[in-house]
Amino acid sequence: CIFCRIATGEIPAQIVARSDHAVAFRDLSPQAPTHVLVIPTSHLASAAEATGEAGAALLGEVMALGVRVAAELGLAEAGYRFVMNTGREGGQTVHHLHLHVLGGRQMRWPPG
Ligand code: 5GP
Ligand code: ZN
Repeated sequence: CIFCRIATGEIPAQIVARSDHAVAFRDLSPQAPTHVLVIPTSHLASAAEATGEAGAALLGEVMALGVRVAAELGLAEAGYRFVMNTGREGGQTVHHLHLHVLGGRQMRWPPG
């Protein structure tokens, strides 16, 4: 899995932050002036697999690292968007759970 290999450092990425079980790095194809992905270092295909207490803890850690990265990159005051595409209709293309942190421009609603 490509994101597992980014987590181990086997594939290069612009890492911006780490926590015990999560890592944040720049998206290869940014959709906003700031576009970071936050992943758990252990493989989970999607949010749909993040069940039970362990899943809740992992989601909490991923979200918490997203909050920290957004603040460190100066997005907190103006705001930003978290997105977690899940499954086919969710538009997920990489099947390792990841949180998009998007900021630096006005976001619109509804999403596409
Ligand atoms: P999804 O569509 O699954 O929600 O998001 C996958 C994201 O991963 C996309 O925004 C895509 O640009 C990004 N991505 C795919 N391959 C790589 C890669 O090798 N390195 C990095 N940094 N981002 C990637
Ligand atoms: Zn993986």
